[in-house]
Amino acid sequence: MGRYTGAVCRLCRREGEKLLLKGSRCYTDKCSVERRRYAPGHHGQNMRMKLSEYGGQLRAKQKVRRTYGVFERVFRTYYHKASKMKGETGANLIQFLERRMDNVVYRLGFAPSRSLARQLVTHCHFLVNGKKASIPSMLLKSGDVVELKESLRKNPQVMDSLASGAHRGVPSWLEIDAENFKGTVKHLPSRDEIDLQAQEQLIVELYSK
Ligand code: SF4
Repeated sequence: MGRYTGAVCRLCRREGEKLLLKGSRCYTDKCSVERRRYAPGHHGQNMRMKLSEYGGQLRAKQKVRRTYGVFERVFRTYYHKASKMKGETGANLIQFLERRMDNVVYRLGFAPSRSLARQLVTHCHFLVNGKKASIPSMLLKSGDVVELKESLRKNPQVMDSLASGAHRGVPSWLEIDAENFKGTVKHLPSRDEIDLQAQEQLIVELYSK
């Protein structure tokens, strides 16, 4: 299945929560979740179904997968890797998603959403440790330095994004040097350093069946 190209606000409305997929619009009263607090579609307003156990697990998984914008196949691969690591599988899974290059670019404030961050990365606008990096799924490690290329440093959208990113705040496991358009991964994030409301235990239950 290809990447979802429909209206992304429908994804938030389906999950009944803001997934922050559209950048600055998400923080305004134009947000579709604020305006229409019901599921999308013809019968959305009448849907008051109680979820089954499986339904709850599926929604928990879809919410996280859609937040980070990754394919099911990739998400499942992270789960398998996470389950083989020491520690809690759910926390390890979320850590994999956070370490992705597109997420780090978003968290550092270079882009207002993960999808725009992915676009900037695929268009080769960043260096990692001084080398060209154009793969959004690249997993960053402790000590890695992400740097915006010179060619985009005066771009008004990037400047705006950095300003609102500073307002949003950079997570404690990252460090931004906005003057030099650089960000550093100080250490890999623990679960409590990751700003994500998720029920990862339900995802583990779903995949471990
Ligand atoms: Fe989701 Fe943002 Fe659309 Fe609101 S504006 S529904 S948070 S993508």
